[in-house]
Amino acid sequence: MMELEEWYNVVSSCVHCRACTSSDIHMTGDENLPICPKGNMFKMESFFACGAHEIIRAMIEGEINENSERLQHVIYSCTMCGYCSYHCELYSPPGQKCKKMGKTFVDIWQDLRADMMKRGWGPLEAHNAILKNIANTDNAWGGTRGDRERWAKGLGAKDLNKESADVLYFAGCTTTYDPKLKAMMTTAAEVFNKAGVSWGILGKNEKCCAGPSLRVGDRDQFKAYAGENIELFKKSGVKTIVTSCAGCYSTFKNEYPAIAEMDGIEVLHVTEFIARLIKEKKIEFTKEVPMKVTYHDPCHIGRYVGVFEEPRTILRAVPGVEVREMIQNKRNSWCCGAGAGMRTALPDVASETGQHRIKQAEDTGAEVLVSSCPFCAQNLMDAIKESDSDLKFMDITEILAQAL
Ligand code: SF4
Ligand code: SF4
Repeated sequence: MMELEEWYNVVSSCVHCRACTSSDIHMTGDENLPICPKGNMFKMESFFACGAHEIIRAMIEGEINENSERLQHVIYSCTMCGYCSYHCELYSPPGQKCKKMGKTFVDIWQDLRADMMKRGWGPLEAHNAILKNIANTDNAWGGTRGDRERWAKGLGAKDLNKESADVLYFAGCTTTYDPKLKAMMTTAAEVFNKAGVSWGILGKNEKCCAGPSLRVGDRDQFKAYAGENIELFKKSGVKTIVTSCAGCYSTFKNEYPAIAEMDGIEVLHVTEFIARLIKEKKIEFTKEVPMKVTYHDPCHIGRYVGVFEEPRTILRAVPGVEVREMIQNKRNSWCCGAGAGMRTALPDVASETGQHRIKQAEDTGAEVLVSSCPFCAQNLMDAIKESDSDLKFMDITEILAQAL
């Protein structure tokens, strides 16, 4: 976390080479693929990373000294997918200060939104509702605390408030409170049980990771929740935290530095954990699941952390599953459109971005679009409907559970 002013040298070193605007010759040589969801939708430079850098420079220098709807629209229509950062790092001219590292622009966006909040210029109303929910109910969606544990009844989860286990399964707010996503948790539990994993949940004491707070600019709320969560994790005595939510995962991994300092506790996404179970021969998928699938990489486990191979490894471990790649995949994956408060505050951007992805999935000839994040799941399921597509959406663990 930095103050916006500290990014001055980085943002003012942008040479407007526009490598952050499209793949152009850089990737395929023959196809000009868009990389930035909002830039692709609104077409003006201000909506691409290079334009945002100019806006940030002007904010720091005081040229922009008042709030406006247009400013808010530019700043809050970023899904923080990180694709621009990757392209700038790879393809901008040598010596760019903004080339420093893959996640730089996402850090800049987060610090920009914190600055907007400090100035009283943000966040948007819909974001404020999420912040209020977290403060009042410990979850982003305003659900009751008791509902945190209801999904796990009869599935063999230990109550980590009273018992001990090796693994804490951290379901996360979105997976827990959207009934359409219940199978993400129950099928993960089936896989854990089959592999003989000692696992449990925090139940009604589980709290939001506060990634959403950070993404919309509320650093104070983020810091408070990060501190409380770290205490809960330490008290639980687990060795491993496993998440189904790509957002919780990247928040713990990238933004909770204290976790790294806690000897023996590791954070794994469910796809990494299951890939490890397969490697250690603790689980085998034996039933044939004849299915052509294409895998959507969630930005928060993909570009943010580099988890690209594990989801594909576990899909290929299922007999009968054929994995087909979309034209933009792995580090070049197109965003689902949901991230950084987009689905809640600017659903038109989320919808158009999601529908673009559905078209790419259809082009592979796959029957099933599979992913491993509740936000991607929600947005892609909606986009399938909005596109009137025949594709079916499944979470990765739902496919695995069919093969047990
Ligand atoms: S790729 Fe980097 S240097 Fe080039 S325009 Fe974009 S932000 Fe500026
Ligand atoms: S993070 Fe994604 S949406 Fe935001 S500016 Fe970069 S490419 Fe565009």
